[in-house]
Amino acid sequence: MALHLGASAGFLGEAMPGLVAGDLWEALYAPGDAAPAHGVYRCEGCGEEVTCARSAPLPAREQHAHYGPWRVQWRLVAKTAGA
Ligand SMILES: [Zn+2]
Repeated sequence: MALHLGASAGFLGEAMPGLVAGDLWEALYAPGDAAPAHGVYRCEGCGEEVTCARSAPLPAREQHAHYGPWRVQWRLVAKTAGA
């Protein structure tokens, strides 16, 4: 889970899905997919989080492997500002 200090809470905002491309938040991305936005992505299988720049590849299977039945699927959990 992404953490922040209380003092930094003023720099965080809640996304309004209808205003900020809500489908970005609903979609699951496969290993190696291009990240649709700058931000933090969480693996649905194990909970590990990574940061990724927009258009950069999310961790590929050989970079993030599971030794169990859980699939690697990335979900955007925090979108950061960026060009
Ligand atoms: Zn994982």
